[in-house]
Amino acid sequence: MPKIPHRLYLTEDQMPTQWYNLRADMPEQPDPLLNPGTMKPLTEEDLYPIFCKELAHQEMDSETRWIDIPEGIMEEYRIYRPSPLIRAYNLEQTLDTPAKIYYKYEGNNTSGSHKLNSAIAQAFYAKQQGLTGLTTETGAGQWGTALSEACAFYGLDLQVYMVKCSYEQKPFRKAVMGVFDANVTPSPSPTTEVGRKILAEFPESTGSLGCAISEAVEKAVSSNNYRYVLGSVLNQVLLHQSIIGLEAKAAMDILGEYPDIVIGCAGGGSNLGGLIAPYMRDKLTGKANPQIFAVEPASCPSFTRGKYAYDFCDTGKVTPLAKMYTLGHGFMPAANHAGGLRYHGMSPILSKLYHDGYMDAVSVKQLEIFEAATLFAKKETILPAPESAHAICQTIKEAVKCRETGEAKTILFGLTGTGYFDMTAYDAFKNGTMVNHIPSDEELAAGFASLPQIG
Ligand SMILES: *Cc1c(COP(=O)(O)O)cnc(C)c1O
Repeated sequence: MPKIPHRLYLTEDQMPTQWYNLRADMPEQPDPLLNPGTMKPLTEEDLYPIFCKELAHQEMDSETRWIDIPEGIMEEYRIYRPSPLIRAYNLEQTLDTPAKIYYKYEGNNTSGSHKLNSAIAQAFYAKQQGLTGLTTETGAGQWGTALSEACAFYGLDLQVYMVKCSYEQKPFRKAVMGVFDANVTPSPSPTTEVGRKILAEFPESTGSLGCAISEAVEKAVSSNNYRYVLGSVLNQVLLHQSIIGLEAKAAMDILGEYPDIVIGCAGGGSNLGGLIAPYMRDKLTGKANPQIFAVEPASCPSFTRGKYAYDFCDTGKVTPLAKMYTLGHGFMPAANHAGGLRYHGMSPILSKLYHDGYMDAVSVKQLEIFEAATLFAKKETILPAPESAHAICQTIKEAVKCRETGEAKTILFGLTGTGYFDMTAYDAFKNGTMVNHIPSDEELAAGFASLPQIG
């Protein structure tokens, strides 16, 4: 029996009861969101037509360090949390590495991902404000599923705009959302003005997250007593996801462990921002200096090849502008990219931290992601989401480096979810039809050309 258990679950009374707001410890704040009408910094009130009030407040609050998790949310969290911290003994052995590998596993709920952590919070506050329904977008489907669960729990209607290619490739995702009574529409759709405009220009469009966001925002502001919610990128989402890192840190503290390296995949940045939150705090306050990696797909490389600039968060330019690492809201990820993480932008908080040198970013290619995913599945028994496999891939690289240097580093990575709805992609990998796609500089230039010119 190893001294350190394979799995560590905190007890209910060891669970964090507050979220941690990383902005409170940042020496410099991210640049403010801009109102798309006036191009002036946005006020909290400007957000009220789009977000419910408490969430608008959280979005703008860069000062409150610790925020109590309301009991109504804790009740829900306790159903599927705490999530386990797992020591990857078998993977370590296979890699013949002196490194210690830990992962925080967020796939133990029906959405199969960490997204439920923020979905519950957002639905709770909407219900508390007396709203009747929410709208949102979903790409791969995890966010739409998570929010469907949360809306069913709190008794809210939900309209989901699902990126058309996912809608067609993942019919069972749609079916799961149906179980929770969500209304799911493929995007771009003829149900909104912006959808009709995109369809007129590109009738064959298979959609993008940016486009589905535009539709969901339009639907929310044109429906009575509805608001819009987003599953990533926003400050409020990173705040809710801090539960991941706080639990991980509490569990590692019990084991007397502290990571030298923390690794997370990055789409819009929410799981990464949540996982690293307490460790970034240590970094910002000079207590410790772990190395932090964002891992993104080579086919959608916002951190590693994007520009740090103001951009719209959606294709239809109806959302506020954020200063972030972006490929341009006009960027269209390759259709053959199966691994998720296809969003053109990145969390403004993480963008600022990356820009100021507090973290590293790397990109990995589709084939190596799936290679890492299948090795992990065989050794650790969990079939990972392709998104999560980006983090696995980088973890393996770091562990192999340790084998070469003989350093016994402690690595913590975020295993954000399961890949049961990604079997077409796993099949393509296994039968050899999957290919890598790395956009050329010319392809990226087309996306950059869509960046707005700001003062
Ligand atoms: C949505 C998702 C991601 C990426 O989103 P972030 O906001 O970057 O965390 C990663 N893994 C899984 C399983 C997801 O569902």
